[in-house]
Amino acid sequence: MTSKERVYAAIHFKKVDYIPVFGNKSPMGPALIGRKLDQNYFLDADAMTDSELAMFEAVDDDVICLNLAPATQDALGAHIHWPENDHPQFESASVATLEDVEKIDFSDALDNEFVRALLETTRKIKKAVGETVTLEVNSYGVFNFASRLLGFDPLMLATVRNKELVHKVCDKIADLQVYLAQPFVDAGADLLSIGDGTSSPSCISSKIYGELALPYLTKTIQGFKKTGAMTLYHPCGGEYPIIDQVGKTGADVLYFSELVDLDVAQKIFIRRHAVAGGVDPTNTLFLGNPESIDENIKQTIGKLKHKTGVIIQPGCGLSPNIPIENLQAMVKATRKYSALM
Ligand SMILES: [Zn+2]
Repeated sequence: MTSKERVYAAIHFKKVDYIPVFGNKSPMGPALIGRKLDQNYFLDADAMTDSELAMFEAVDDDVICLNLAPATQDALGAHIHWPENDHPQFESASVATLEDVEKIDFSDALDNEFVRALLETTRKIKKAVGETVTLEVNSYGVFNFASRLLGFDPLMLATVRNKELVHKVCDKIADLQVYLAQPFVDAGADLLSIGDGTSSPSCISSKIYGELALPYLTKTIQGFKKTGAMTLYHPCGGEYPIIDQVGKTGADVLYFSELVDLDVAQKIFIRRHAVAGGVDPTNTLFLGNPESIDENIKQTIGKLKHKTGVIIQPGCGLSPNIPIENLQAMVKATRKYSALM
C-alpha cells in the first residue's frame, strides 16, 4: 500500500497493512533547513516546501500537513504579533462590535500574500509527492479564530452577554474557511482539517459549545466536504463532555487529545467516523525516549479492538523542541505493533 492508500483505507474502514500515523512534525521543519518559524517563513513557498519535504523524509509518517491558520488570521484582518521563532500570537482586538464583523471583507483573500504562499507550497509539494502521500491543509476552528479577532476574555464574556456577536463572527469565519477550501483542493490538498481548543470543554461548557460553536464548526466541515476532500476535526482539549456532539460536524476523522482514550473513541465511533490520537505530546513525546515511546505505543495499540478506522497521532500540536528521534520512534513502533494485529 502507498501511504495515501493506507490513510484512505483506514478512514473508510477497509483493510490496512499498518495503522497510519500522523506525526504533527511541521514545527520542527524550519530548524531542519536552517530557518526560523517566523513571518518570512510563512511567506516563502520554497522554504515551506523544503521544510515539509525534509521532515517527511526524516520522520517517514503518513501525512504532509500545511498550516493555513496564520494566513487565514491575516486575511481576517487579525492584529497579529510575530515572535522571533514561533507561531503568530494575538496582539490586540480587531473586532468588538457587530459593525466590526460586517466590515470584515475577504473578497480579496486569494490575493493575500500568506494565502498565495501556502497555495504555491501546496502545488509544489503535490508535484513532488504526487498521489503517494496524503496532503493535509490544517487550520483553526471558528472559536480559535474568534479569539484572535476579539481577544480570549472578550470572546468568553460574549458567549454569555453578546451571543449575537459570537454567532456573527463565527459565521463570517466559517464563510472564509469554506471560500478558501476549493482553491486548496484544486492546488492538491487531499484532507482539510480544523482544530479548535477554544471551543473545547477546557474553555466553554458543553451547552455553549452546542449553541455557539458546533453550528459553525459543522458549517465549516460541511463546506469542506463539498470540495470532495476528506475532513478532520480536532476538538482539542478534555473532549469527553462533548463526545456526544462532535460527530455532528460530519468530519470523516475525529482527532482527539490524549485526554480521550483512543480505544474507547474507536468503539464509540466505529463505522461512523475514523478516530485519531492516542499519544501524549508531553509525557510520551517530550519527556520520553525511543524505548519508552515504543512501550507506550505498544500499550495504546494493544488496547485497540480494530486495526482500521484509526490513526495514531500526538494528542495536539507539538513544541518545536521535541527530538526528531522521538517522532521516528513513534512511527516505527506504530508499524511494528500494528503489523502484528
Ligand atoms: Zn490540540
